This record gives sequence, structure tokens and C-alpha cells, in this order.
Amino acid sequence: MSTEHTHRKKHRSAVTSATKTAGVVGGGISGMATAARLARAGYKVTLFEAGAELGGKLTDERWEGFRFDKGPSLFTMPELLEELFADCGEKLSDYLQYDQLELVTRYFYPDGTRVNAFSNIDQFAAELEQQIGEEQSRTKAYFKRAKLMYDTTAPVFLDRSLQDWSNLLRFSTFLKVLRVPWLGVFGTMHRFNKKWFKHWRTVQLFDRFATYNGSNPYKAPATLNLISYIEHGKGAFYPQGGMIAIRNALSKLMEKLGVTVRLNTRVDKFFIHNKKLKGVTIGDDRELFTLVVSAVDVMQVRASMYPRNMRKNTQKAPELSSSAIIYHWAMKGEYPALDLHNIFFSSHYKREFHAIAKGELTSDPTIYVYISSKNHRADAPHGHENWFVMVNTPPNAGQDWDAYIAKTRIYLHQHLSHTLKVPIADLILHETVMDPRDIERNTGSVGGAIYGPASNNKWAAFLRQSNRHATVKGLYFAGGSVHPGGGIPLCLLSARITTELIQGKH
Ligand SMILES: Cc1cc2nc3c(=O)[nH]c(=O)nc-3n(C[C@H](O)[C@H](O)[C@H](O)COP(=O)(O)OP(=O)(O)OC[C@H]3O[C@@H](n4cnc5c(N)ncnc54)[C@H](O)[C@@H]3O)c2cc1C
Repeated sequence: MSTEHTHRKKHRSAVTSATKTAGVVGGGISGMATAARLARAGYKVTLFEAGAELGGKLTDERWEGFRFDKGPSLFTMPELLEELFADCGEKLSDYLQYDQLELVTRYFYPDGTRVNAFSNIDQFAAELEQQIGEEQSRTKAYFKRAKLMYDTTAPVFLDRSLQDWSNLLRFSTFLKVLRVPWLGVFGTMHRFNKKWFKHWRTVQLFDRFATYNGSNPYKAPATLNLISYIEHGKGAFYPQGGMIAIRNALSKLMEKLGVTVRLNTRVDKFFIHNKKLKGVTIGDDRELFTLVVSAVDVMQVRASMYPRNMRKNTQKAPELSSSAIIYHWAMKGEYPALDLHNIFFSSHYKREFHAIAKGELTSDPTIYVYISSKNHRADAPHGHENWFVMVNTPPNAGQDWDAYIAKTRIYLHQHLSHTLKVPIADLILHETVMDPRDIERNTGSVGGAIYGPASNNKWAAFLRQSNRHATVKGLYFAGGSVHPGGGIPLCLLSARITTELIQGKH
């Protein structure tokens, strides 16, 4: 990809406003989606990306015939990508193909129990009964409740800006639903799951969904139990060609819509005068825009991107979501016991989250192994697999990461060798490691926190940065660290909400 590419607009927008210009800061999923939407809305858009390539957390790396996705591995709610392309006058299928997974995750417990978490709820409930003894009816009723929670929450908290007054009506409906006692939304995820399910293994499995936005199930509100419905009720998917195909599709969409992409270009500050956004500052230069969308970590913005006279307004730093250490292993051999997504649970789940809350990493963390070559054979040479092995960690606060990486590696070798009955260390041909410092350095996310501020209390949704600056006219926000939250689907939603705010649709 060239460091700068400008394409003549092939699409004339419905709303023609040729003189209106938009700067988008950050070339991750949300920056790309916002840039495409604004270009479609008639803005002349320039996207600034500090790194040498687009994608932010969603990139990949290669080694001798192996390809590794570096960030996201689970693709949910593809309808939001379909919607983005349709809103931009394109068909997603011309850019990206994807398939629904029948088996979402294979779970391995320390006592040898294995559970296949099928996409289909009935099949999953039957599997939980067979492997764990959890009554099917209980699991099915849980998902029914999670669906109700999703259907009630999404229109208020996910689909729109919380600054939108017309949202208040939906909000009052939401409050009424909260009062339904059996929904039990006022406790934590864990407390609810522990009360609902009979078996600790089922509780652990459903508690794990807190990690989907970097939270702690022992602190996060029970409303987040709806995440399991997204994966099992709405389904989990896999893009043909790997997760990187999503980045590539968005990049092509921007190209088609005439977005100017400036790689290796770090925006230092927003240029704000008299509470009006005028443009951005890059080194000694100023570039002027009608409006600017910040699609970078909001903690970075608060720390360094406002003019000095606005910094006193910065809020107290919130608790950050978790980060991760990821080992990319080029593996000799093929491992039929494993599937695309695999979880090896720790024996002491609570201890693991307790350690993260203290800024530490437990000695026996839960392990996630993602093997894209199971679905996309070209990602590893014949007779080999590409393992993405991840453990959740606290965000970077100056811990001795090299020591944690070395210690955790030994544990991974031991635990995976013991469970899979193969000498893992001898089968690794090549390793690269990514830790919270890398995530911080490569994407500008403070502390390498994957999902921005944590969602560990029931007010978290209200405390997230909203998509429009409260006082600076012309400054907007999108991305995983602002409303409505992190992960690809919510990033796509933030791009939509932000563009709608700009267009005065809310
Ligand atoms: C290990 C890992 C696993 C994950 N797993 C999943 C998953 O399975 N499913 C899922 O849906 N999500 C997952 N996520 C989360 C998901 O990747 C993110 O929520 C999403 O990609 C964030 O996109 P974004 O556009 O908000 O920000 P980012 O991807 O962080 O992009 C921000 C971009 O802005 C650039 N930038 C920063 N500062 C500046 C500046 N001053 N000027 C110019 N450019 C700047 C950065 O270089 C970066 O490219 C995972 C993330 C990680 C790291």
C-alpha cells in the first residue's frame, strides 16, 4: 500500500456538500468505517494514520508460509458490516465473504472435561447437559433472558448516542424492564450466573463473556450477560481469508469512496479556537477541516491532544480494561483435538481476575488458542498450524513484562502438553510475542488496554466518552474506547452513530 493514496470520487453523494471537509484521526476499524460513511455523505475526507498500515489492532504478520492475525479473532454481528457497505452504496459480498461457525469454541477444563459450545442454542444446551450435567431447560431459559436483555439494551445503549434526547423514551422502557425481578440485573455477572446455573463449570463458561470487553465477571454488571446471546443467539462467523479480510474490505471501500489516506502521519493535537474545532496539528503544520473525528484511544486524546488551556477539564483517569500477552507459534503438526477457537480454563478463575485487578498476572491463567489455519488452510504450510495463544493481563503500568512472558511461556508449555498429550515446546518452529507495551506502542491505546475504559460497574456505559464533544463544536469521537464500546461490532456502531450525529440525524 502506498504511503498516500487519493482516489477520485466515483460516487456522487446524496447530500452534496463538496466544500465540507472532514479529518479522521486513526486508521483502525472505526476510523475506516467513519471515513467511508462521511465520504458517502459528501465530505472530502482525509484519514490520518500514525502507523505504516491501516487496521490498528486488526493487522496480521507472516513468517515462512505462516500467517497470523494479530488482534481480533472472533467475528460477530456481520450484519453491521453489511449495513455499512449498503449505506455506502456497495455490496459487502463484492468485498468480503464469510461463513457462520457451527462450533464456536471448544472448552477444556482442568479436570479433563471438554465442552463444545455450538452456535445453535439447542445443540449447545444439549452438550452442556451431556458433558457437565447442566439441565438443558436451564441453559435455554438463560439465553431467552439474555435475548430479552439484548433486545431491551441495544436500542438504548448500542444503537444511538446517549446524548440523544429522543433516546429518553427508550431509556424509560429500559428502566421498566430492569425492574423485572427475574432479570436480576443489579448484581454482578458472576453472582447472577452462580445463582442461575447448578454447576460451577457452566458458571465459569458464562462468566468468561466478561472478557469480551476486557471486564471482570466478579465486578461487571449482570447486564453484560447478554454478550453470550450475541455469540450463540445471533451467531459467530469467520471471514474467508482470515480476520485481516475485514481490514482489507474496509480499506477498499474507502478507496472506492475517494478517501485520502495518509499513513505514517501522527496527529499531535486538535486545533481548537474559541470552542470551535478548526483542524489538526501535525508537527509544525496545521491542517484545516470543517470537522474532525477522533478514532484513537480517548485516554491518549485527554492526555495529550487537547490544547493546554483545555487540559484542566480532563476527567480523573478511569479504570482501564484488560490487555493481553499473545504468543504466535508456528507449529509443526496438526492437532485434531483443537478447533478454530479453544479455551483452556484455569483452576482458580476468581484468583485470575483478582490478580488482574491488582495489576498482576496469575501463575496459571486461562489460555485462549486461536488457529485460523483450521478454517483457512493457506494460513500455514501443509502439516502445520498457526497458533495464536493469548492470556488476559492487566494494562501496562510498568510491570516486568519480560519476566511475565518467560514465566507464562513455561506454564503454557506445561499445561498444553499435559492436556493435549504432546510435547508442545518441541513442536514450536518459531515464536513472536506481543504484550501490552506493544499494543500501546502500535495503536496508541493507553496501557495497551484493548477496550479503553473497563465496564466494571453499572454506570460505565454512562461514563464513556460520548460521540460528540460536549463543548467543542466540530469535534467527534468514534472507536473502541468511546460509546458504545470496544470490539469490531461496537466500533462499527460508533462510526454509524458519530456520522448520524454529524448529519443531524439524532
Ligand atoms: C489481542 C486482541 C484481541 C481482540 N479480539 C477481538 C475479537 O475477537 N473480536 C472483536 O470484535 N474485537 C476484538 N478485539 C478488539 C478490537 O480489535 C478493537 O475493539 C478494534 O479493532 C478497535 O478499533 P479502533 O478503530 O477503535 O482502534 P484501533 O484499532 O486501536 O486503531 C487506532 C488507530 O489509530 C492510530 N493512531 C493512534 N494515535 C494516533 C494519532 N495521534 N494520529 C494518527 N493515528 C493515530 C493507531 O496507529 C491505530 O492504527 C481484540 C483486540 C486485541 C488487541
